[in-house]
Amino acid sequence: MAHVNENYSKLPGNYLFATIAKKVDAYAAAHPHANMIRLGIGDVTRPLAPAIIAAMHNAVDEMADAATFRGYGPEQGYDFLRNAIIKGDYETRGIHLDTDEIFIGDGAKTDVAYIQQIFGSDLKFAVADPVYPVYLDSNVMMGHTGNWNAATGTYDGVVYLPCTPENGFKAEPPTEKVDIVYLCNPSNPTGTAMTKSELEAWVRTAKENKFIIIYDSAYETYITEPDVPHSIFEIEGAKEVAIELRSYSKCAGFTGTRCSYVVVPKAANAYTATGEAVALNPLWNRRQCTFFNGTPYIIQRAAEAYYSPEGQQQCLADVKYYMENAHIIRDGLTKAGFTVYGATNSPYAWVQTPNGMKSWDFFDLLLDKAQVVTTPGTGFGPHGEGYMRLTAFGSKENTIEAVQRIANLKLIK
Ligand code: PLP
Repeated sequence: MAHVNENYSKLPGNYLFATIAKKVDAYAAAHPHANMIRLGIGDVTRPLAPAIIAAMHNAVDEMADAATFRGYGPEQGYDFLRNAIIKGDYETRGIHLDTDEIFIGDGAKTDVAYIQQIFGSDLKFAVADPVYPVYLDSNVMMGHTGNWNAATGTYDGVVYLPCTPENGFKAEPPTEKVDIVYLCNPSNPTGTAMTKSELEAWVRTAKENKFIIIYDSAYETYITEPDVPHSIFEIEGAKEVAIELRSYSKCAGFTGTRCSYVVVPKAANAYTATGEAVALNPLWNRRQCTFFNGTPYIIQRAAEAYYSPEGQQQCLADVKYYMENAHIIRDGLTKAGFTVYGATNSPYAWVQTPNGMKSWDFFDLLLDKAQVVTTPGTGFGPHGEGYMRLTAFGSKENTIEAVQRIANLKLIK
């Protein structure tokens, strides 16, 4: 008799964005002429940059010729991309990495959900609250949590790090013992970002308490303030206690193209039950070699083009476009009386609901009265209650229109 993985039954409901899609579809079916503006899901809308398209075309042509055709590639990724990453993302910031510390993946969602596999099955982890839901849900499925507690909206056995206005929506190091901590900087969903001194405190605590920081910097390109590091490896000693994940989804529009990378420094160790240090880099390498056959060649050539001078100029122009939208949301809603966080180092604005309204009630109100789709803060954790996430990934025209529609509701007296 086949037994199911009963950990799945601990998950209380649908994946957040599936629930939103269902509500939006029902609304659209009931109001076929509604002109909906989607500022909910964090998906980009601008097309791939010409330099990236050209590189993809070249790679497609190579696949059509027996002399340049590629079959299985290295599980870790091609060196042309790994070296372009080191040069483009790290050497420019004074960070030295070896090629074999970089692992190319097919999306940061995949990477961040799987990275737990190199840690012990008795893994105890901490997450910011609110945070990108995949960190938590993937660990639930792997049996790293106790049961779901509907009254608190939390899982037993998980260490939640509350992010509130009082701490600037920045997770603070846990006071209890954990093995790994997921940090998202700049944060999805709050759009806030930790500074160098705040990250230094994290690295110091991780060293003292021997935990590993899983550092997701999917929104690194959106950083505008000089005291926010672009990589955790800008912090001295971080290579001993951190694994960094990056994605091409938001910096180069790869949400449908799929490419990412993980940096597992050779200096990073975890421990056996008897306390012996074991390097994490060979473990992740072994994991990838067994579970993964590499990101497609064509896609890795496309990602390489992101680092060309044209690729940089074109992709950063798109990031700038989205950041202008972020400012339109931040400034427009602030002017309308809302309290707005984020949207300075990130494409996300974290908006306090009016008059203490619940997140899902505000979601329904905005859908019904303004035909604007947002994301309720509670979808990211219990401390998201009373907030709404708006994304800057729409067109400028739609963003202006959405802000105007929300302001016109005159919800804040
Ligand atoms: N990490 C964070 C914090 C995200 O917000 C997202 C996507 O929204 C991802 C990872 C997933 O990125 P990818 O498209 O590379 O799977």
